[in-house]
Amino acid sequence: MFNRVFVACSCLFVLGGCIYNDEPMPKITYDYNISETIQPRLPTPTRSQIDSIDENIPQGWLPPSVAEKKWTAIVIHHSGTKNGNAAIFDKWHREGNHWEGVGYDFVIGNGTNSGNGEVEVTYRWRKQITGAHCGGTAGNWANKEAVGICLVGDFNRTLPTSWQMQSLVKLVRFLQNRYGIPKSRIYGHNTAPGASPTDCPGKKFPMAKLKSMLDF
Ligand SMILES: [Zn+2]
Repeated sequence: MFNRVFVACSCLFVLGGCIYNDEPMPKITYDYNISETIQPRLPTPTRSQIDSIDENIPQGWLPPSVAEKKWTAIVIHHSGTKNGNAAIFDKWHREGNHWEGVGYDFVIGNGTNSGNGEVEVTYRWRKQITGAHCGGTAGNWANKEAVGICLVGDFNRTLPTSWQMQSLVKLVRFLQNRYGIPKSRIYGHNTAPGASPTDCPGKKFPMAKLKSMLDF
């Protein structure tokens, strides 16, 4: 079973960029489950962590209270393309991958098809449903446990814009505070435990710089 999954993942990796690396989430099945050993559950965030949420957070970032999940990690992606936005990725993921919709929770624009640094909230976040952005992780833990953030751009070739980084830091800090997610649980797609081989979020993505801008 593992070999078949590995071969399938390898083929997808050969085929192209980040978008097509991701396995169609509903089709992945595993006959083993190591998610608990590689991703132990975190303690519930303290009241003060939740209360420290920035007052200027856009209302759209707040999940519906009736459906709010206990997210425990964050996975950052690039689109692997020069341009795009949530609607374009939604179309690609539905028509190209036959998913029910865009795989990410948030998409941060680069000024091409959405604003430079604009944070688009997708239906997955609004409904608090499992993502489809990090195929290959055992038991799909990353799709189930991690918030998926995609920055528009190909960071093998360019850096994110400063507006994108500013929005990313704000969004990540919000998520950290709300769910008590430490920086050690913030991954690039390529470093998410168990993820299929990928260069996402790109060789030039400044992960160390991002983490240096976070409090915990
Ligand atoms: Zn990715």
